[in-house]
Amino acid sequence: MMIVGAHCNREKGVSRAQSIVNACQKIRRLGGQTLQIFLNSHYKSKVNKLLLLEIEIIKKARDNNNIQITVHGKYMYNFCRPSSGRTMWQVEALCQELVDADQLGANVVIHQGKNVKELHQSRQDAKETYVNNLREVLNKTTELKNQILLENSCAAGSEIGASLVELSEIYHSFSETEKKRIGICLDTCHLFVSGEVDIRKRSSVQQLFTDFEQLFGGLEPLKLIHFNDSKTKFQSKSDRHAPLLQGYIGNSQLEGSEEGLRGLVEQATKWQIPLILETHSDDDYLSTEINWIISAATPIPGLTTPVPAPVLTTTSGTATAVTVPYQIPRRIIILKRRDNI
Ligand SMILES: [Zn+2]
Repeated sequence: MMIVGAHCNREKGVSRAQSIVNACQKIRRLGGQTLQIFLNSHYKSKVNKLLLLEIEIIKKARDNNNIQITVHGKYMYNFCRPSSGRTMWQVEALCQELVDADQLGANVVIHQGKNVKELHQSRQDAKETYVNNLREVLNKTTELKNQILLENSCAAGSEIGASLVELSEIYHSFSETEKKRIGICLDTCHLFVSGEVDIRKRSSVQQLFTDFEQLFGGLEPLKLIHFNDSKTKFQSKSDRHAPLLQGYIGNSQLEGSEEGLRGLVEQATKWQIPLILETHSDDDYLSTEINWIISAATPIPGLTTPVPAPVLTTTSGTATAVTVPYQIPRRIIILKRRDNI
């Protein structure tokens, strides 16, 4: 069975719990089964612990709509930075996010860190500090069952963990006991812009799964896929998500191809790995994206050619992709601010 859904940001002027309730209902209405949320402001260090009442409200909506929830941790975390004194906040903040997420049955996705320049860290130092910080978080939350999911980076600047090889080194730095609470999240846009995998090609996607199995000792650690197109080119190292089939991965007008994305949907379906869209499309296009994924997951028997991509529809009529989401300047600002998920 295909497990698909989207990241939904908190709605303005709505309480945190109600916003998550609305997101659960929206995902179900659009045919999805999984939802990713922020529990806290992703660009502030403060964590607002979930209240008991909030937990009850969210769990009810989760169960009534049959939705699985994932929490995305703060963007501000850089676990390559040693934690002591003033920088202890990030260990404590992730502990609290994990505690809150665990009550919702949710894992927490975090980004990779980057070298701290003023400390003249080597890449190896950065990786060791990253692992040590997360180890401290695990040690402080041994009563929890949920996992920290490490998301592959797009190799911008000194970011660690863009390649599968490096990500697997980081993963294998943890003990077998610690690994029970560590999983991996692969982001298709990051794989593409880092140059790690040319997601346009079905053969590259197949190779990705073979490599993952070898490097991680199986596919079990792969808990989630962020399923995004890219506004920038292969190997650009620039993290800018595009709506599905509208970017350099899936849009044939940008020398993209949907073949690799289809291959990825097939693999995700086979191995029951949830796909989360972080494309921030409006409800109409989000519905189109989810339907495309569902159709790619269930090929029509006897059909040898792929089902064509849906034609995009806007309120002003039909349009070819690429330009649609970028017509209104205000939306450019919104998209930029949310790019790094
Ligand atoms: Zn992502």
